[in-house]
Amino acid sequence: MHGLMQDWPLLCHKIIDYAAQQHGQREIISRSVEGPIVRTNYGEVRNRALRLAQALDRDGFELGDRIATLGWNTARHMEAWYGIMGIGAIYHTLNPRLFPEQIAWIMNHAEDKAIFVDLTFMPIIEAIADKVPSLRKIIVMTDAAHMPKESKLDLVCYEDFVGASDGDFTWREFDENTAAGMCYTSGTTGDPKGVLYSHRSNVIHALIGSLPDALDIASNEIIMPVVPMFHANAWGIAMAAPLTGATIVNPGGMMDGASIYELLDTEKVSFTAAVPTVWLMLLAYLEETGKKLPYLNRVVIGGSACPRAMTQKFQDDYDVDVVHAWGMTEMSPLGTLGSLKPEYADFEGDARLDIQEKQGYAPFGVEMKITDDDNVPCPWDGKTFGKLKVRGPAVAKAYFGGAGKEQFDAEGWFDTGDVAHINEYGYMQITDRAKDVIKSGGEWISTIDLENLAVGHPDVQEAAVIGIAHPKWDERPLLICIRKEGKTPGREDILGFMEGKIAKWWMPDDVAFVDEIPHTATGKIQKTELRKQFADYSFPTA
Ligand code: ADP
Repeated sequence: MHGLMQDWPLLCHKIIDYAAQQHGQREIISRSVEGPIVRTNYGEVRNRALRLAQALDRDGFELGDRIATLGWNTARHMEAWYGIMGIGAIYHTLNPRLFPEQIAWIMNHAEDKAIFVDLTFMPIIEAIADKVPSLRKIIVMTDAAHMPKESKLDLVCYEDFVGASDGDFTWREFDENTAAGMCYTSGTTGDPKGVLYSHRSNVIHALIGSLPDALDIASNEIIMPVVPMFHANAWGIAMAAPLTGATIVNPGGMMDGASIYELLDTEKVSFTAAVPTVWLMLLAYLEETGKKLPYLNRVVIGGSACPRAMTQKFQDDYDVDVVHAWGMTEMSPLGTLGSLKPEYADFEGDARLDIQEKQGYAPFGVEMKITDDDNVPCPWDGKTFGKLKVRGPAVAKAYFGGAGKEQFDAEGWFDTGDVAHINEYGYMQITDRAKDVIKSGGEWISTIDLENLAVGHPDVQEAAVIGIAHPKWDERPLLICIRKEGKTPGREDILGFMEGKIAKWWMPDDVAFVDEIPHTATGKIQKTELRKQFADYSFPTA
């Protein structure tokens, strides 16, 4: 017997409709690509998204068409997303930090038919447009005055495109399982793989993300998603914020410490989210200038492990709570968040930091398990490592075009490629990417634990650990560090600092100092590159 409740499909444009109706005056503030800070609101964004949908419809774009976006977080980018989804087409976010050839490869794989592009990225589109035969429209997200003067391409001005429609249009109707968005994983191993979100998964993810123990979003919140919309949907904020009516402050393309600080301060941002490298820049700026963060209550940090020292600094020096989070493009992306359950609510100092070093627990809608090499579930004892697998309504069940089949099993579990342990209260801690873990004498050493510890040294700016072949132990850890400016810690200083804080056999065999550590397009340490750089290295003691 079916229930007798209404069949109200979970469609993304219902989110922006809701925001316009209930929170229409709530602002969306953006550092524009042209320079000035511009202000709009949910009512306006909905109105312009509708006109954009009408224009796409008029130009013959259809249900299921992939329409790329290559842009920073701005109100225009949001309008484009909602307008694209409103005709049943699919927004496809491209990461501008990839090489142009990689972007062209991804666009061809997705068969993108149009692109919305920021002025900043004109050189990219100029370089690749003729390599993407499916592309029939290039819309530059600016006004007539700022349109590029010279271009070999046939460009459309965004404001003209939106301005040419009157908004007398209704969103298209379709099933909630219709594809809504697309994002490719960065492809550090093999070709990038396309993740295809549905309207239903996006709406459910926005609901999950808004929960108090998740991102904890409400209409009185002023949110700055520093994490880009092209990095796994800005962690769901571009949908969770309108779903709750929260104010959005978009940083545009400026992510340096001073620019981020300026917006946090002038717009009185209460909550923000980004990867650790962004926060390193902000914290360095605050230290230099002696400035404080009086309005900011909470920062969500994820994408790679949040070092303990960073959590401590935010909390002790700036009175800002840190929520450590883990997720993946394939999970829309939220997987776990480090809010404190009642069991940990009274924890202070180091005991609290111990819990916050974990990536947190899964909200409703994310099922997790860890398994050994024979696919047998491991106990949740907080120490047994296993392969981390997940499933849920906002988790991918396949990649676009059928790549990566081996990551999905018959029961719907998706193998994340991460290695983790989970404790009795459900708190998960990533110990490594499966491909980065160091096997020493048959036992595993967590590179993330070592990196976290090393960056706790006051003179270390950033640290990475890789395994180096060893005649006796197979592999041993090499610690690679960037020193803080003006500081000159040596090997012994750093190893001495780590001593007693980890098992003896986890101690790195050596420390190498470098000026730069390579990062991927989503801000993660690029270990494949580091392994290449240190391919000829051998331990002095081996
Ligand atoms: P990409 O793979 O495209 O760089 P994702 O953001 O989807 O982008 O990467 C997901 C991976 O990032 C996870 O599988 C995990 O290895 C890593 N990751 C994300 N958050 C954390 C975290 N808090 N701690 C450790 N690793 C993390």
